[in-house]
Amino acid sequence: MDPKIKDILKDYEKIWALNQANSLLNWDLETYMPKNGVEARGLAIANISLLRQTFFLELSKKVSSVKIDKLDETEAGIVRTLNRTIHYYTSIPPEIIEKFETLTSKATVVWREAKSKSDFSLFRKYLNDIVEINVIIAEKLGYEDNIYDPLMDLYEEGFTVRDADSVFDRLLSGSREIYNRIIEENIFSTPSRLEKIKYREKDMIQVNKKIIELLEMPPDRFRIDVSSHPFTTEISEDDVRITTRYEGYNFKATLFSTIHESGHAIYQLQIPSKFSRMPIARGVSSGIHESQSRFWENFIGRSKEFVHFIYPVLKYNLPFLKNYTEDRIYRYFNTVRPSLIRVDADEVTYNFHIALRYEIEKKLINSEIDVKEVPELWNDFMEKYIGIRPKNDSEGVLQDIHWSGGSFGYFPTYSLGNIVAGMIWGKHDFTGELDNMDIKAIKLHLYEKVHKYGSIYEPKKLLMKSFGETYNPDYLLAYLKKKFLS
Ligand code: MG
Repeated sequence: MDPKIKDILKDYEKIWALNQANSLLNWDLETYMPKNGVEARGLAIANISLLRQTFFLELSKKVSSVKIDKLDETEAGIVRTLNRTIHYYTSIPPEIIEKFETLTSKATVVWREAKSKSDFSLFRKYLNDIVEINVIIAEKLGYEDNIYDPLMDLYEEGFTVRDADSVFDRLLSGSREIYNRIIEENIFSTPSRLEKIKYREKDMIQVNKKIIELLEMPPDRFRIDVSSHPFTTEISEDDVRITTRYEGYNFKATLFSTIHESGHAIYQLQIPSKFSRMPIARGVSSGIHESQSRFWENFIGRSKEFVHFIYPVLKYNLPFLKNYTEDRIYRYFNTVRPSLIRVDADEVTYNFHIALRYEIEKKLINSEIDVKEVPELWNDFMEKYIGIRPKNDSEGVLQDIHWSGGSFGYFPTYSLGNIVAGMIWGKHDFTGELDNMDIKAIKLHLYEKVHKYGSIYEPKKLLMKSFGETYNPDYLLAYLKKKFLS
């Protein structure tokens, strides 16, 4: 290894250690921490993040003195990954970062209240300030084409408005056609009684435990806990954790959130151990990460073969399934119908919810619309694409936490996840793996195509290398068509 890189990696170990501490503090905050610990924890996390920033800036001299053309691909990946964070910290003045933190922590509290009162006007001023500070950040980060580009780039390196416009254009028109036909045919759009049926938490805990075994999650490197919003976190390379939640009814919600987060965890767990403690030992972008969770959740988890695979576990633990055939459970897992809430959306309508948020974010950051126009725009879009109109702000514009937390540019990566999962599916015949439910073989395929690279290559380069093209929605559309319309 290049001696300069070796030296940089040695310094990086401090950042790696802080990341570990930070992940553990956050994980604990969401799972087991007594309520009153929240203030001290918040302060500790903020201080750690400042330390992290300091260490990154200290590293920047060494990183900039490296001659890129002398490096192999792994080393170049290390430098590229470090430079992204260094660029962020050197471009955004500390007072902006601090203002952003204060504003968004306050805005999250206000958003919660606005949502519970279903009153957008309470949140409007905060959203306005959040858009303004994001515009400042985007300007500082710099861009060639569109001011929204650098914000998306924070989550999906190299993905631009030009890319997004073309992707969503095709995805929207294709999905709309499929969706209209599904509703017309009325086979997948009839609600199942299971959506309302209550389960005992201890029964579903057993089911999830069994699912994790079936997915062959390594017990000595992985665990599952409970939190109000499910997430995956990597504490270290050999300690990856997910959470799920139990709402007490509609058991597919907790089941698929467990499978989804397991998909994120498998990505983390399969990154080669030779990358341990390096900045490339993680998923390369939010979109690629989401492609892994969606692949397991939807393409595998909602398949007929998977239903067959887990049917005995479900029947054994959930007594109310006594008279339900595999086919009825498959329909229940795959209901497609209008819903106002993104997180409840099915595979077909989900991308409408994302396209709507993308359009609004892009317009806000480009100052093409005013914050006060957002609720109306939102509702019009819902009516146009999904055929239903929110009756109030809480089931419309106020439903997601993301904007109050300051993130603009994140939403599109949800659809990129679906699109890339579609590419993985469309470029390989999974019949053999599914017929035998060969989890090892599926994992190996994902390793070969995605996991083994860590974040050596930027997302587009990774996609070109493994699939010969970048974010192409046609595979997802073909899959949806075949699944729901034939
Ligand atoms: Mg996810």
